[in-house]
Amino acid sequence: MSQWEVVIGIETHVQLATASKIFSGAATAFGAAPNTQAAPVDLALPGVLPVLNKRAVECAIRFGLAVGAKVAERSVFARKNYFYPDLPKGYQISQFELPVVQGGQIHISVGQGDKAYEKPVRLTRAHLEEDAGKSLHEDFHGKTGIDLNRAGTPLLEIVTEPDMRSADEAVAYARALHALVRWIGICDGNMQEGSFRCDANVSVHRPGTPFGTRREIKNLNSFRFLKEAIEYEIRWQIETLEEGGTIEQATVLFDPASGTTRAMRSKEDAHDYRYFPDPDLLPLVISSEWIERTRAELPELPEAKKQRFMADYGLSAYDATTLTASLEMADYFEAAVAAAGKDQAKLCANWVMVDLAARLNKAGLEIAQAPVSAVQLGGVVARIADGTISNAIAKKVFEALWVGEGASADEIIERQGLKQITDSGAIERLVDEVLAANPANVAEFKAGKEKAFNALVGQVMKAAKGKANPQQVNALLRQKLQAPA
Ligand code: ADP
Ligand code: MG
Repeated sequence: MSQWEVVIGIETHVQLATASKIFSGAATAFGAAPNTQAAPVDLALPGVLPVLNKRAVECAIRFGLAVGAKVAERSVFARKNYFYPDLPKGYQISQFELPVVQGGQIHISVGQGDKAYEKPVRLTRAHLEEDAGKSLHEDFHGKTGIDLNRAGTPLLEIVTEPDMRSADEAVAYARALHALVRWIGICDGNMQEGSFRCDANVSVHRPGTPFGTRREIKNLNSFRFLKEAIEYEIRWQIETLEEGGTIEQATVLFDPASGTTRAMRSKEDAHDYRYFPDPDLLPLVISSEWIERTRAELPELPEAKKQRFMADYGLSAYDATTLTASLEMADYFEAAVAAAGKDQAKLCANWVMVDLAARLNKAGLEIAQAPVSAVQLGGVVARIADGTISNAIAKKVFEALWVGEGASADEIIERQGLKQITDSGAIERLVDEVLAANPANVAEFKAGKEKAFNALVGQVMKAAKGKANPQQVNALLRQKLQAPA
């Protein structure tokens, strides 16, 4: 497969986090009974007129600024004409020639360790449009129902240049974009509910020749499906070409059950949609004051925060990338560092990325719902750092905080008597007991078996209920074992 190069461009539909629809006052909340959130405009009743939602425009401006794009002073809404049962107007209001956001880029980090690399993915454009309704095929005794609650939900469609070269790069892009739209508060990012859906355009060609013909995989709503669908599609295209076949431009669907894609329809060209400016809507004019006001309201962006974490806390690029995966995680980390002390940033990073992440994962919780607050975690780290508790005991303290056995690490350490034993006299007594009780291990160690040493350390730690200072135990044991008999 090495002589083929993969080319991928992604179009993402991001549902904007507005309370009401893009051209009507109906609510956008997910999960309401069918057709209870459809205003006359969404139903396309005769004589109604669309009114643009200002908040949707603001979301588009935020996005444009966050990706370093040009926010168009003047953009135009156009009618994209096609027939579909859940599109009662017979056209979708979108933007065509003059989109609100033009250009920009998103930085992606791909892979880990030695194979890790970063690259920019250029954006072509992002435009505002309305979502269509939904056809419901269940529960209708063989008939199909139409739910127009989703009709008119504001979308930002974000289109990339064909810059990605593997399924992994495509997934890295989708993850970065997903994190960004949540970070800047323009989308809830709920992929199960369809708030963030990707279409992947995939082609293959021999390097040095023009790009191949692409097929577009529609509506991928999980990162795993995105990866599986692209990988399948790449294999299928290469096989088809190597068997002497040709690729027809087409729109395809991914079937997660079989892990395969199948053609849905041959792909329309733009001229098939008979785009023209919507006469019901004025051109969208965005003043530079509005843009500047919006810029001032943006939070520190992920890339800037990542660079600052590396510079201020001495974190690796990998750690800084992981900790800036979401604004919630970045805030949590910084609050923990504030509580533990800046010198403990690396230890805080480990606790957030490893222990806390694993515990959240086990409980199926998001970081915002963590029962252990950042200040509490910082307290645990501070007690490791000053030698009050060992790492192993710290895990116990963390778990106790998790289940609410105390308000702080100090309280739990005090109440449960978890303070590390650093009194060398006390440790020496334990060491002597263990040596006396385990002559077989002692003999093995003297015969050159290093493993026996670890067994003895384990026995001492057990006798100390985990509370002995491990460095002291190691040193004392070795000293005693190596002393001439
Ligand atoms: P359309 O208007 O038909 O949707 P576009 O030219 O806007 O087509 O491209 C749609 C997406 O397809 C973009 O993300 C673009 O980067 C991508 N794309 C274009 N050509 C190719 C290609 N040969 N292989 C893979 N992706 C491509
Ligand atoms: Mg398109």
